[in-house]
Amino acid sequence: MTRSVNLPDSMSTPARRTLRRVPDLLDAGLVPPEAAPVLEDVARRYATAIPPAFYDLIQAPDDPIGRQVIPDAAELLTAPHERADPIGDDALSPVPGIVHRYADRALLKPLLVCPLYCRFCFRREHVGPDGGVLDDDALARALDWLRAHPAIREVILTGGDPLMLSPRRLGAIVRALGDMAHVTTIRVHSRVPVADPGRITGELADALETDRAMWLVVHANHAREFTPAARAALRRIQARAIPVLGQSVLLRGVNDSTAALEGLFRAMVEARIKPYYLHQLDPAPGTAHFHVPIAEGRRLLAGLRGRVTGLAWPTYTLDIPGGHGKVPLGPDYLEPAADGLAVRDPAGGLHKLDAESAPNLALGAREG
Ligand SMILES: *Cc1c(COP(=O)(O)O)cnc(C)c1O
Ligand code: SF4
Repeated sequence: MTRSVNLPDSMSTPARRTLRRVPDLLDAGLVPPEAAPVLEDVARRYATAIPPAFYDLIQAPDDPIGRQVIPDAAELLTAPHERADPIGDDALSPVPGIVHRYADRALLKPLLVCPLYCRFCFRREHVGPDGGVLDDDALARALDWLRAHPAIREVILTGGDPLMLSPRRLGAIVRALGDMAHVTTIRVHSRVPVADPGRITGELADALETDRAMWLVVHANHAREFTPAARAALRRIQARAIPVLGQSVLLRGVNDSTAALEGLFRAMVEARIKPYYLHQLDPAPGTAHFHVPIAEGRRLLAGLRGRVTGLAWPTYTLDIPGGHGKVPLGPDYLEPAADGLAVRDPAGGLHKLDAESAPNLALGAREG
């Protein structure tokens, strides 16, 4: 792979192991030597991991791949509105490993380890290589809690990253959930297929097989993440009749242009992945440099309308800080007008939906 000229020669040597320490980053040419002391401060606070699959994609440290995984001094700045638990998960945890906010579904977090550590992670105060795995007793208690709550139809395996579990342990969890009569749907949220595709072996994919509805949601933020190896890993999962959805975070310097979003969502559709959510960034500590304002996000998404296949449109979503749940952020296309509503077409033209020209549509305006 050719790399941009502003990197030292050392970067042309691919690293075959995951980079975790500041000296590893220096050796790899990802950070300049003078940044080392401040990055050690960052490293004391937040975990770092750059697996070879991501390292190989970095053409410059501040490119859309590098920005996601290379620690930055800006992470030491915690803005006044940022919080350690941005979406209020802690208050919603009845037993370790469970988060329960919605009546019909719950999160199960069997471990807090990830294949890489996103610099914008909403759980960055919790995840890490030492963040641990629920031990057998804690996992048994979490499963007992799910067993005792028959209103839970869907269990969302998240973390950390559940596909960092061994096939044996993952299979045991999937079987335990499959044995609960009320659990009809199991969802796995993972970054492993793009971050460390070699981990998605046939054996790991087999561990996901169940007679329940199993869905996988892959987290990816840039088209370049969908390498041939990543696509092959996703095919191993899809081959088990598991539908794959995509979730992404809107990030400054990563995907904050209509072209980048178009590339990302097209790459998903072409890998048979339905873009599900584009998340507004959660206000986790030291992530303000990734923030894209909502008004800008709505404009970017509106720019996709009419230009890309409808299969490629995710829901732009805000997880309301404080644990109040997720809501769609638009863009929306209806506007109040003098005697009813007006609707904006993808090219920007405004069309009145008044009682005379569109009685069926305008009626809704009076009711609502
Ligand atoms: C995001 C989230 C879910 C899943 O929400 P969906 O809108 O169904 O994807 C479930 N529980 C919690 C606590 C969450 O934060
Ligand atoms: S993969 Fe998910 S949980 Fe892990 S660091 Fe990235 S955003 Fe956080």
